[in-house]
Amino acid sequence: RAKAEGRNRVAFFEAAMQASLLHRYELEQDLRAALRLGQFELWVQAQFEGGAKMNGAEALVRWRHPVRGLVSPAEFIPIAEETGLIVPLGAWVLRSACEAIRALQGAGRSLRISVNVSARQFLEHDFIAQVREILEQSGADPSRLTLELTESVLIDSFDVVAGRMRELHALGIRFSLDDFGTGYSSLAYLKRLPLSELKIDRSFVRDVPADPEDAALVEGIIAVAHLLHLDVVAEGVETPEQQQFLRAAGCGSFQGFLLHRPQPIDDWLKDVFG
Ligand code: C2E
Ligand code: MG
Ligand code: MG
Ligand code: MG
Repeated sequence: RAKAEGRNRVAFFEAAMQASLLHRYELEQDLRAALRLGQFELWVQAQFEGGAKMNGAEALVRWRHPVRGLVSPAEFIPIAEETGLIVPLGAWVLRSACEAIRALQGAGRSLRISVNVSARQFLEHDFIAQVREILEQSGADPSRLTLELTESVLIDSFDVVAGRMRELHALGIRFSLDDFGTGYSSLAYLKRLPLSELKIDRSFVRDVPADPEDAALVEGIIAVAHLLHLDVVAEGVETPEQQQFLRAAGCGSFQGFLLHRPQPIDDWLKDVFG
């Protein structure tokens, strides 16, 4: 009996594996066509300084799949990275964000836009040239653009990464370290990078103020940021209690469902322009 059960379990496991491989294969095929078919949408989530002053927004890509509906980037960004599609997709996101910056400038609104950049995209040989070209063509003020990198970009080729960051920072671009605390960066490394900002990962924010360990971690992260003269943004702020705790701990900016739910960028721009 045990043997039959074991066989069943193996059969079930194999079927599940096959289904997920098929799912994955289909996603990959569909993803390749998605850019050409114009199925990606740029959404944004506003960021707020101190109490309620909006100072910008983070660009978040969405995939409007004809059958699956709105697909989360958590599902397709890893595939886009593996297949290399992240390079043209990332360029499209950056271009769209820079066009929005230009529109905001034109209306005299000094809001910033943050763009997520994957390690693979950042390490592409002509990334700097791409950024320069997009800035030139869009007419966006580079100082209104923040590039969000995660610690994963620092795993190898630290000197290459640091060199590129310095070159882009010299144009006026800000850098933010996203999902801070979930990766491997050492303080010695952070000190040597032209960063302007740290983002506290949502996983640390979730259980404050109730969880004393997370509360202590968040305070530690903020202390490190201040030591390095960096701005601090907390992500995933869902309750007034979280925001209050973070503010009291010295966190300067906030992002989360409490303050703003991600929305299509055109809707957001309309709201901003009133
Ligand atoms: P991220 O950069 O850490 O972005 C924050 C994520 O947290 C977003 O998920 C946002 O919708 C979500 N979020 C914001 N506030 C709250 C909150 O209060 N509660 C909860 N539960 N969630 C909140 P999203 O849009 O699904 O994006 C997931 C990840 O996909 C991003 O994490 C980022 O790593 C990646 N991503 C999104 N757009 C791009 C892109 O254009 N390029 C690249 N390379 N990655 C992207
Ligand atoms: Mg981000
Ligand atoms: Mg983040
Ligand atoms: Mg995060």
